Amino acid sequence: MSSDKIDTKFDQQHIWHPYTSLPANIKAYPVASANGVRLKLQDGRELIDGMASWWCAIHGYNHPVLNQAIKDQTDKMAHVMFGGLTHQPAIELAKKLISITPASLQNIFFADSGSVAVEVAIKLALQYWQAKNKPAKNKLLSLKHAYHGDTFGAMAICDPVNGMHSLFSNVLAQHYFVDAPYCGEEFHEDDIKKVKQQLEQHHKNIAALILEPLVQGAGGMRIYNPEYLTQARKLCDEYDVLLITDEIATGFGRTGTMFACEQADISPDIMCVGKALTGGMMSLAATLMTKEISQTISQAKPGVFMHGPTFMANPLACAAANASIDLLLSSNWQENVLRIEKTLKDNLTECSDLEQVKDVRVKGAIGVIETHKPVDQAWMTQEFVKRGVWVRPFSNLVYIMPAYVINNDDLVKITSSMYEIVSQQL
Ligand SMILES: *Cc1c(COP(=O)(O)O)cnc(C)c1O
Repeated sequence: MSSDKIDTKFDQQHIWHPYTSLPANIKAYPVASANGVRLKLQDGRELIDGMASWWCAIHGYNHPVLNQAIKDQTDKMAHVMFGGLTHQPAIELAKKLISITPASLQNIFFADSGSVAVEVAIKLALQYWQAKNKPAKNKLLSLKHAYHGDTFGAMAICDPVNGMHSLFSNVLAQHYFVDAPYCGEEFHEDDIKKVKQQLEQHHKNIAALILEPLVQGAGGMRIYNPEYLTQARKLCDEYDVLLITDEIATGFGRTGTMFACEQADISPDIMCVGKALTGGMMSLAATLMTKEISQTISQAKPGVFMHGPTFMANPLACAAANASIDLLLSSNWQENVLRIEKTLKDNLTECSDLEQVKDVRVKGAIGVIETHKPVDQAWMTQEFVKRGVWVRPFSNLVYIMPAYVINNDDLVKITSSMYEIVSQQL
């Protein structure tokens, strides 16, 4: 066996990590293994994980059922090209996803990451209007504070400031943006009026409205009222604009319903899923759409949808996703998410009293503390690790989205660490 010693020095000098410089200012923490909601560091320390590896590991790590699904599929085949070939794991997964998403979504495109699923959604929307002989409908309407991924198409519909559009202003496609809805419990009529105004003015050029339903994730962890979605759906119908919901973060139970759009009782025309799709085992995403969209595209020139990733519908990833969805459906995930929501409300609310804190918000298994000042990420992460907890804050946000199986003791350990550390923020 090769040496188990993780060469963090090499890592720091040579390997990019998300949103960092190179060489990195501080070393990344070396993880030797992970089990349940515990990350085990190389030096033997164990951290209670509050992040589920960015929304993904909803069942916890090293789950025997998910591991077995991948082992079983490996013995059959790890991968075959999807051009001209098909396989049971993909078909089974498509059936499952079609059955748990809104009824109008009947067709599916498998992608290898969330960003690519968003690229596919954009392409579908553009190709749809071309097929309908309305090529001028070639822009998107997106929300400020949105996050839809890091590839160029996706980046162009992320918040212009957070997404650092200024760095790429000559390259990025220009789209329309509207102010994000009010972050909080109430529905503000004004917010939806702004959407109406944009649609009224520009609908001839707008292919689709794209949004993250209920929770804007990486663009600010902003939680908003479902009525906004209900109204947005109506406006899209009124102005002949498609609705794309990006459920990559919110999907698979995170907000308390299987998909966030259920809380507004709406069906999008196109929907992206990813992140928790495989229970955090591998990278896989999908774009679902109505028959109307796939038929329209297929019946017009050139009669095909021009996209086809090399690892499209990778059988191992599909097998993991099938096992993860079965596990979710056969578990008491709703109870767990409600329990987490209650525990977060009971234990994070007192953080509002801290002078450092601007807002505390909870939705399903998501807990957010927004501070007045930007956090010192290195210092804060270190403080969490000292307390045996893994939380990775960014910007003004100290937030968690733990695995649904986390117990209340572990959860309270995380929330009390959040309170303590935020109270020490300078
Ligand atoms: C994470 C995320 C993406 C991008 O997914 P990747 O797999 O990182 O490419 C897109 N949209 C939303 C809402 C996300 O949270």
